[in-house]
Amino acid sequence: MGKLIFYVLIALLIYWIIKSRRPKQEEHEASSEAVEDMVNCAQCGVYLPKSEAIHSHTKYFCSHEHCNLYMKSST
Ligand SMILES: [Zn+2]
Repeated sequence: MGKLIFYVLIALLIYWIIKSRRPKQEEHEASSEAVEDMVNCAQCGVYLPKSEAIHSHTKYFCSHEHCNLYMKSST
């Protein structure tokens, strides 16, 4: 009886190790999806997160300086 419990515990341990490794791959895929929310500056073309970009006239800019430069060159 003691040996049977020992083997069941080993089987459970192996199952737990396999199960605990899988969510790490899913986490990696989820983090790569979050990086996709990027925009590029209409003036210099540099890529930056949408949250850090300056949104003006349906265009995104890396700084207010580039926003002003773009507005001057387009008008
Ligand atoms: Zn720029």
